[in-house]
Amino acid sequence: MNQITEWIWNRPARALKIYYGGGRKDAITEKCIECSGSSQEAGKCEITDCALWTFRPGATKGEVPSFVPPQAELQALADAKVPDAVREHARKLGASRKGK
Ligand code: SF4
Repeated sequence: MNQITEWIWNRPARALKIYYGGGRKDAITEKCIECSGSSQEAGKCEITDCALWTFRPGATKGEVPSFVPPQAELQALADAKVPDAVREHARKLGASRKGK
């Protein structure tokens, strides 16, 4: 038995939600528990540069690490990085996939 099948045998309810229920939240929780040892410890996690940090169990909703720019500033950066031509191409591609 490898590590993943052992985990499935130990936590079948969580595995069911993750693999058959589209449970992203459960997957993140499981990853954080694996990383920190427990759900409670994950809530105290201080590794703010981890991409899962804002989604970890016990996270305060809306809490953003201090190194992340304010939302308006980040939106302006995101808008500046995507030229209109690229955005238009993506829109057309999406529309063609929907059959429009
Ligand atoms: S948020 Fe913290 S506990 Fe969760 S995976 Fe990242 S470093 Fe580990």
